[in-house]
Amino acid sequence: MASQLPRNLTPSLYLDRHTAELTAFLQKIIRLRTVNPPGENYGALTLLLASTLKNLGFEVRRIPIPRALQKKTLPDLLSYPRYNVIGFWNTGAKKTLHFNAHYDVVPVSGNWRYGSAFNPIIERGWMYGRGTADMKGAITSIVFALQALQQSAVRPNFNIEVSFVADEETDSALGTGWITQYGKLRADYAVVGEGGEGNAICCGHNGVVWLNVQIHGKAAHGSLPAKGINALEKMSALVLALSGYKRQLARRTFRAPNGERLHPTINIGGVFSAGEGGKINTVPATASFTIDRRVLPNENVGAAERELTTFLKMAAKKIPQCRITVSKISDNFSCYRSPTHPLFIALQASVTRIRRQPTQAMVSTGFNDMHFFAQVKNIPTLGYGPGGVDYHGVNERVRIKDLVDSAKIYADLLTTFQG
Ligand SMILES: [Zn+2]
Repeated sequence: MASQLPRNLTPSLYLDRHTAELTAFLQKIIRLRTVNPPGENYGALTLLLASTLKNLGFEVRRIPIPRALQKKTLPDLLSYPRYNVIGFWNTGAKKTLHFNAHYDVVPVSGNWRYGSAFNPIIERGWMYGRGTADMKGAITSIVFALQALQQSAVRPNFNIEVSFVADEETDSALGTGWITQYGKLRADYAVVGEGGEGNAICCGHNGVVWLNVQIHGKAAHGSLPAKGINALEKMSALVLALSGYKRQLARRTFRAPNGERLHPTINIGGVFSAGEGGKINTVPATASFTIDRRVLPNENVGAAERELTTFLKMAAKKIPQCRITVSKISDNFSCYRSPTHPLFIALQASVTRIRRQPTQAMVSTGFNDMHFFAQVKNIPTLGYGPGGVDYHGVNERVRIKDLVDSAKIYADLLTTFQG
């Protein structure tokens, strides 16, 4: 019915005229509290997202994670089933551009300015609520970019594949991790709707290795400490030894395209406890702590883990009677693609056109789901979306203008990038 469309209706104009509809959609999906952990309301929200994509003419798969697999990976959360939604719009193009966003949100605490984190309020151009910034805002921008293209009868240069996924806030194993392995994706390029925002485009992120270190001592009566091996004291010595390792890491760098210098880091933390039987008048027999090692894009995650484990074992050997066990909690790849890639050049031009400001290419110190597309699927991947303020915090919010701009940028990219 192209002849009945208002003349010169561009996707941008459509988005300017439908901002109220866009914000109402975001409010609706925020009210469906998809808090993870444990993973609430995944069923209801994925039904809504699947039907939204169907209404846009997409072939849609709403895929439940097989119960047996969930039993293996999340045995305690079987009453919270996991789903991913994958949509495909065959425009007849040769190549396919993929948009990815996670729909889970982190738990809420603290006093929100407007009462509830799940009753999103708009004030002075900002919407407040859990998931506005991270990252139901991006879901909204993706949906409305596609709607704007269709309503203005503009044909994208690509087939479009969309994934709305679970569990990014825990470890992505049953979300983007699962779909990039088993989802039969057809993507040639991917844009993850977070990592970059405003005038910053994310072309990579750090990886991570999470380790648990347990120290094995020997219990004894608190009145005769010399008869035991104090695991807490051994742990303290080991933690002090790690400061030498920190200095070693600080000398390594990765220079991001925007000139920022990134260094590998370790954060020592976790839950410290003396284990069972820990008591004021007992020599602690065990102690444990965790290490969060951030891995630069020019480092290898496996090598970083081996190096750190070796360091810990050597350091423990130098401490009398210090026996330790090091175990991996989880890891994630880093990723990086040079901003000279045509996908970057095209997105940069789209951001500049819509936002009228120069862009920068950044590398994120935190990680997101980009690495699954970049490393597992081995396709060019960038991070860009509406972003926001106070991610994971109280009064998380997104600027309405950024939601609209991101939708315009996605639509612009789809009609200008040649692939
Ligand atoms: Zn996120």
